[in-house]
Amino acid sequence: MPRRWIHLAALFAITLPLLGGCAADTKNAMRVAASTDSAKGIHQEQSVRGVSPLVDKHWVQDPRNYYETQNVVINKAVSVPILEYHEAKYVPGDIATLKPGQFLSEIEWLHRHNFHTINFGQLYAAMYHGYKLPPRPIILTFDDGYESVYFNVYPLLKKYHDQAALFVIAGYTHEKPNRKKEFPNLTIPELREMQASGLVDVEDHTMTHPDLRTLSESKAQYEIHGSAQVLEKIVNHPMLFFCYPDGGYTQETISLVRKAGYLLAVTQNGGYANWRQGPWTLHRISVLDFTTLQDFAKKLSPSLS
Ligand SMILES: [Zn+2]
Repeated sequence: MPRRWIHLAALFAITLPLLGGCAADTKNAMRVAASTDSAKGIHQEQSVRGVSPLVDKHWVQDPRNYYETQNVVINKAVSVPILEYHEAKYVPGDIATLKPGQFLSEIEWLHRHNFHTINFGQLYAAMYHGYKLPPRPIILTFDDGYESVYFNVYPLLKKYHDQAALFVIAGYTHEKPNRKKEFPNLTIPELREMQASGLVDVEDHTMTHPDLRTLSESKAQYEIHGSAQVLEKIVNHPMLFFCYPDGGYTQETISLVRKAGYLLAVTQNGGYANWRQGPWTLHRISVLDFTTLQDFAKKLSPSLS
């Protein structure tokens, strides 16, 4: 495919969702673009599609903070902490939860120390296309799509005007609340409301949350590609960012994720995300119920120096 058509496909991939266009066509355009260039290495075909519509408007509208290059330019200076949260309420005995008031004190700490929450579109654009990030950028991620995010996190995102990404298990999405479960999942209306706010980006965490390392290629394909088709219909935008269940992946898994058109993927390997890890095995920093504010500050100390 000629380069200009690849760019056009990418451009449609971002403008159609903005116009409320057909998500399926959008995804197809993206898949074509991704697979066409896969033999040529890093995302040269994707120069615009990671930038919008997910980018925070404030930074896009100010030309001093934003510029875009036509070609891939890996910015080796980009090093961003991606925080990894799960259940946003306290469940004693389960460390992947949060103590009462914990997230509030963490988000207040971030503001006191001049951190700016960004989204994955901004990170991708900064890593590969010359996008300039705000000072002390940080990404908040919540895995598995628990309903506690809607009640305990979303109100604080609105109050402080912060962003977060949700990695949602497509097969667990449902219309009505399931609050008899110990860990209720978000409903489809809640997912749509949060995505529409512009503060929350819903992204992909497979269909059923299996260990991808143990699956046949066809089953892994279903988990990685099929889940995107489900989630795209719910939030009406292409799935561009992926999270491996329990951080498990192989080279084959990475290849499937890349071919499926995801721009970036995150793991449970600890530390700041940077270009050395490659786009599909970015590291994260986990926050658990025993993480004190002192621990939290220590994990983010590289940003303060
Ligand atoms: Zn998970």
